[in-house]
Amino acid sequence: MIPVTRPPGSAVSQVPPSWEAATRPAGSRLRIGAVAAATFLVSLAHYLTPAEHFLLHNIYQRLYYIPILLACAWFGLRGGLLTAAACAALYAPHILVHWRHIAAYQTNQLLELVLFAVIALVAGVLSDRERSLRRRAEATAAERDRALNDLQETLEALRRSDRFITLGTLAAAMAHEIRNPLAAMRGATEILERDYSPGHPRREFLDILRREMEHLIEVTGKYLEYGKPQPPELRPTDLNATVASVAGLLRRSAQRAGVVIETRLEPDLPPALADPTQLHQALVNLFLNGIQAMGAGGRLEVSTGCASSALFVEVRDHGPGLPEGPTERLFEPFFTTKPGGSGLGLAVTRRIVEDHGGRIEAASVEDGGACFRIELQTAPAGAVV
Ligand code: ADP
Repeated sequence: MIPVTRPPGSAVSQVPPSWEAATRPAGSRLRIGAVAAATFLVSLAHYLTPAEHFLLHNIYQRLYYIPILLACAWFGLRGGLLTAAACAALYAPHILVHWRHIAAYQTNQLLELVLFAVIALVAGVLSDRERSLRRRAEATAAERDRALNDLQETLEALRRSDRFITLGTLAAAMAHEIRNPLAAMRGATEILERDYSPGHPRREFLDILRREMEHLIEVTGKYLEYGKPQPPELRPTDLNATVASVAGLLRRSAQRAGVVIETRLEPDLPPALADPTQLHQALVNLFLNGIQAMGAGGRLEVSTGCASSALFVEVRDHGPGLPEGPTERLFEPFFTTKPGGSGLGLAVTRRIVEDHGGRIEAASVEDGGACFRIELQTAPAGAVV
């Protein structure tokens, strides 16, 4: 796979969310502990300091602001108000007991408790607002990273398909140039074959020449198909008849490879909306791959059917199964694991199926072999083949 490159500055959070979640409770506990300890220490200082040390008591009472503001910053309005209440609850007995002999000072100190609540309210509201803005900014940043990622992948796919289109066009142009001379060479070989009958010592070379030429003609044909796709002429098509025709066409070559083709065609299928010639081509590619995947004694099972208003054809073989790696790349042009393979059969097949508005899937089968499934749309109701 081509690695996805990121433009500089496109920061993506390096911290996995699960890690953040895992560390949050421990951090919170530490903060709660700090707020509680500060509240407790300030209260202890009040109770341990004799009442005549006014100045010290004034300082201590202001020190209560520290846990209240910390709680607001860390836990928002709720945390701030709770801490203010705790500070008031701890400080109030001291005011009521130690300052009962100075009524004016006592009232002043009790009003200070109200100030605790006001500070917690203002700082808490501000902190909550800041936290919600931060959360929104983080969500926007994550959304932006995701969009950037998607864009990169789309760009990469576009670049890849652009490369394939260029390659395909180039290959088709070359194939076009080679095809005519090849056809002339095949004609010449046929003429020579008349002079060298099957028992002739030189006949073997002519057979090789002919076989290699057939292969070249087949491969150049595939390049042309891939490089110059024709839009399908969709019409009501008998799917079973197309499958039977492909099976009939390839039965001889399957026999030569020692493979039996078995068809299980669902009767009374509605007509498919397809271009019969292109569908034929797509199926030939799947049949040939299946036959080539098996040795002598192999069985190619082909079935048709209708599921959730789509028609399907399944071509299942008993070969080694699909090669390791993502299935998607089998359908990429020029991917092949066969010596001398063009890697275009499945690319052409997929394009035909997609041009029909259908789907193609491939999978290895559990008890050995591979299965390719094509799904096609049915023709509009009432259409006749
Ligand atoms: P080619 O046949 O020229 O290799 P294809 O596009 O038809 O090109 O196939 C691409 C690759 O997909 C094959 O080389 C093979 O690795 C894999 N493949 C296709 N059909 C089968 C199958 N029936 N069983 C196992 N592998 C398959």
